Amino acid sequence: MQRNVGYNYTFIPTNKGGQLLMLNGYTYRKCNKSFNYYCSNMSSKGYLTYHTIPTAKGNALIMLNKFTYWKDSRSRNYYCSKRASGCKARLKLDHKGVIILADCNHIHEPPNYIKTAAGYIKI
Ligand SMILES: [Zn+2]
Repeated sequence: MQRNVGYNYTFIPTNKGGQLLMLNGYTYRKCNKSFNYYCSNMSSKGYLTYHTIPTAKGNALIMLNKFTYWKDSRSRNYYCSKRASGCKARLKLDHKGVIILADCNHIHEPPNYIKTAAGYIKI
């Protein structure tokens, strides 16, 4: 499956002290009570960007806003890496790999990954 990797994005400060995430010409507003970014114009075809992290088993983790998600083998849903700890955050992707639902209410801090030239490494 083709995944959307490596989109460029920038943060745009707003006059209310927040920031918008701009991605490929679309802007996203950060939800105050969660880590989610929602498209600031829901009628446009905006979507969230994410990175994929290859694993030794040939699967791919999704990294979105510093959190990582595993693919559920029976569905297109991706579940938080800390699902076993009771975290219910999940992502739903369409057949093109575009995030169509992001429930990012994590109950924990994001895992520590660092970005290197070779990709992301968990530290
Ligand atoms: Zn989580």
